[in-house]
Amino acid sequence: MDTLSSTLHKNFWLEGIEYASQPALNQALHCDFLVIGGGLSGLSTALHLKKMQPAARVALLEAGKIGDRNSGLNSGQCGTRIGPPIEKQIKSLGKEMAANIYRYSQKAMQYAASLIEAQGIQCNLQTSNQWQVALTEKDARILEDRALLYQSLGFDIPLIGQREVKKSFPDSSTILNAIEFPAYMLNPYKLCLGLKEAVLNAGVYLYENTKVVSHKQKQGIKLTANGHRLYYQHAILTVNSRITQLYEHTASVLPIAVFAAVTRPLSHKEKQRIGWSKEQGLFDARPHFNFLRLTHDDRILIGGEYRYANSGHIEAPQQQDCLDRLQHQLIYFFPSLQQIRFEYQWHGIVGCTLDEWPVIGPLKSSSTCWYIGAWNGHGVAASLIAGREVAQGIISDGLMPRFPWHRSSVMGLGHPALVRITLPYYLEWLRIRSRLTQHQKIKDSRYLKK
Ligand SMILES: Cc1cc2nc3c(=O)[nH]c(=O)nc-3n(C[C@H](O)[C@H](O)[C@H](O)COP(=O)(O)OP(=O)(O)OC[C@H]3O[C@@H](n4cnc5c(N)ncnc54)[C@H](O)[C@@H]3O)c2cc1C
Repeated sequence: MDTLSSTLHKNFWLEGIEYASQPALNQALHCDFLVIGGGLSGLSTALHLKKMQPAARVALLEAGKIGDRNSGLNSGQCGTRIGPPIEKQIKSLGKEMAANIYRYSQKAMQYAASLIEAQGIQCNLQTSNQWQVALTEKDARILEDRALLYQSLGFDIPLIGQREVKKSFPDSSTILNAIEFPAYMLNPYKLCLGLKEAVLNAGVYLYENTKVVSHKQKQGIKLTANGHRLYYQHAILTVNSRITQLYEHTASVLPIAVFAAVTRPLSHKEKQRIGWSKEQGLFDARPHFNFLRLTHDDRILIGGEYRYANSGHIEAPQQQDCLDRLQHQLIYFFPSLQQIRFEYQWHGIVGCTLDEWPVIGPLKSSSTCWYIGAWNGHGVAASLIAGREVAQGIISDGLMPRFPWHRSSVMGLGHPALVRITLPYYLEWLRIRSRLTQHQKIKDSRYLKK
């Protein structure tokens, strides 16, 4: 493998793409709508605000360059997942609400595709599928039940039995069965750049390398960037896990680092051995799951490994440990790829909540400031539609958007100190559970015999 220092933070999607950034803010800013954070949530919110109110002054401020963070470095699977697994949703919210939420997530996926088409964004959008796969007997039974639950709600999420799994992945004896969801595959970085262009064409004032800082005051919050004061009617904070650095949702939106790595291109022979001709996205059913996809040039992208990233930084040895684990996981999925090495590896820090639902709505400390985020690692489709709905809600005098799962505040761990102490242990426990199930002997061979 390449040396650690040369390959960390090398986002595969960036390769071969160069673009100039917009100037940083260098004076006080006055606007009607201030959008903070230029990921998918922020780009979509700014675009829709400007389209809905063309005369309004809309400004979008991004701490780095557009596409540098999660929105430009994810695995590009635009799927239907919002919130926890379906059985948990049914248990806590009932069947009707769970069905509404799934229907809404289908709508979000379709909306993402229609937005990309309407804006003429060239981001290699392809209709595909996502297979959630079971690697253990227990998970295989969970997926059987899950398929039945979706059917009982009226959705066709087929169960893929061992025979078909074997046909699709002849090399992998670890995948026992799967359930199939609809999905699009895309290049996330190109999507961000396409939206950046759309935002600029619409007339949004975009400032890159402009980090917003919050100053708590008795009468609310005061925002500055690059030392300049920001004046606005409404602010929309789409900063994902960085919301805690702005002193909001400090013990409820949890910053979790997620790692990804990409192999060299597979040879024709290697590709034939592993199969994967449908090129669907994969993610497994363990608590500490991996996600995988093929790239346009026959590389494998594998992601996973979740670490608490309170300071916004993960130390180099820990990064190396996570990447080594990804290498093992890749071989676990595809034993014939023993010798294959990663050429790109990077990580992003996503916002998560304990109950896995996102958070959208006005901040407790200021009703003119909204937060959109905490996508729990599934935000590609959901963040785009959320931008539109929030823009609509704010323009209609602060009406709450009608998300079936809507909530604007979230139960957390009470105090940031408690998060710092308990969360690493919780994640380690999930990791151990996933490892135990991975090594669990397959006692009942009914899946393998089919
Ligand atoms: C490795 C990895 C793989 C993933 N794979 C998938 C996938 O396949 N499918 C899927 O649906 N989801 C996936 N996700 C999750 C997905 O990327 C996110 O849910 C989505 O990008 C969230 O978009 P966002 O705009 O809300 O947040 P972000 O993309 O995190 O954007 C927030 C932006 O705010 C900026 N910002 C932060 N603080 C400030 C500040 N103070 N001032 C100004 N700007 C600031 C940041 O620089 C950043 O650009 C993955 C995530 C990772 C890390």
